Amino acid sequence: MSAADAARPDPTAQRTDVVIVGAGPVGLFAVFECGMLGIKCHVVDALEAIGGQCSALYPEKPIYDIPGYPRIDAAALVERLAAQAAPFHPAYHLNQRVERLAPRDGRWLVETSAGTRLDAAAVIVAAGAGAFGPNRPPLAGIEQYEGRGVHYLIKRADEFRGRRVVIAGGGDSAVDWALALADVALRVSVVHRRPKFRAAPESVRKLEALAASGKLDLVVPYQLARVEGDGARLAAVVIATLDGAERRLPADALLPFFGLAADLGPIAAWGLNLAHNRIVVDPASCATNVAGLFAIGDIAVYPGKLKLILTGFAEAAQAAHAIHPLVFPGEALHFEYSTMKGVPGA
Ligand SMILES: Cc1cc2nc3c(=O)[nH]c(=O)nc-3n(C[C@H](O)[C@H](O)[C@H](O)COP(=O)(O)OP(=O)(O)OC[C@H]3O[C@@H](n4cnc5c(N)ncnc54)[C@H](O)[C@@H]3O)c2cc1C
Repeated sequence: MSAADAARPDPTAQRTDVVIVGAGPVGLFAVFECGMLGIKCHVVDALEAIGGQCSALYPEKPIYDIPGYPRIDAAALVERLAAQAAPFHPAYHLNQRVERLAPRDGRWLVETSAGTRLDAAAVIVAAGAGAFGPNRPPLAGIEQYEGRGVHYLIKRADEFRGRRVVIAGGGDSAVDWALALADVALRVSVVHRRPKFRAAPESVRKLEALAASGKLDLVVPYQLARVEGDGARLAAVVIATLDGAERRLPADALLPFFGLAADLGPIAAWGLNLAHNRIVVDPASCATNVAGLFAIGDIAVYPGKLKLILTGFAEAAQAAHAIHPLVFPGEALHFEYSTMKGVPGA
């Protein structure tokens, strides 16, 4: 872009007050906090559904530390956050990644992988772990079964009703999905390369109790060796001990849970101060080192930061207040409780 272009507004871009990068729980709550201050938002997410990690990784798991909800399933929390944001009519641009941020006419031009162009006074990066993707096991030919037997993300346990499922991994996701599927699937085998699991102790106790009662198989210490099938449908998962002794587990589904690769993707090129793949912010405002760019939620870091949803909610409020003067220059912002002003537009 030339210097002259950068000084002119882009007439082809949709104009809004704030673009939020990431529709995870924190990005969704930022719509509400901005809306309460009269700030309009567009929200972009690389995933095809809103909800970030809550939707993609653990929709059916209960969360116990959301204030006011002694227990709420992750999917239900996302639904409520969307309902809370709805009076402010956010525009969602899903299934597209924010690729480029460029300063333009004192504002920000945001471009996505789908060609959407947005022009905003400020950008809130609520991108979680960045453009995340699963760590794939290095098995020859596994790609041909991805989405057809091999799944890295599960939306609903019910998709595996009556099926023979092999779960690989030893962390929370592997253990939690094994517990969730034990009553749903025809057979669940959990393959891990050591006898000890790295999951919450209470969950590991439940897993071992289910194994002892014969409701699932713990196949340890084994690791994945290869997948078998006719190219269209998975038929079996072959596993091996460290000294090469193999076993064949007939299977309709393989669920490898080897964690997520945290890849900031394009965010790393936006000139932001980064520390260990997270964006350094001032906790009072969630402002980054680049004027007009803010970061909240898991991706934001400062001394003492706790990576919790409730922390991200508070950061959304901090950022919205800090952005107000950028959207309404010269207008005083009088702090008001929601009980005093209600929800404008609801
Ligand atoms: C199994 C599990 C259990 C958990 N349990 C709890 C719990 O009990 N309590 C708790 O407080 N927390 C819990 N967490 C953590 C919690 O889910 C995260 O803190 C929370 O999701 C962070 O929200 P976020 O909105 O910051 O980011 P995310 O939820 O990670 O959402 C970020 C979104 O940004 C999108 N994105 C990234 N880069 C781009 C880009 N360039 N363009 C477009 N979109 C982009 C991603 O696709 C993603 O949808 C748990 C996490 C896991 C994995």
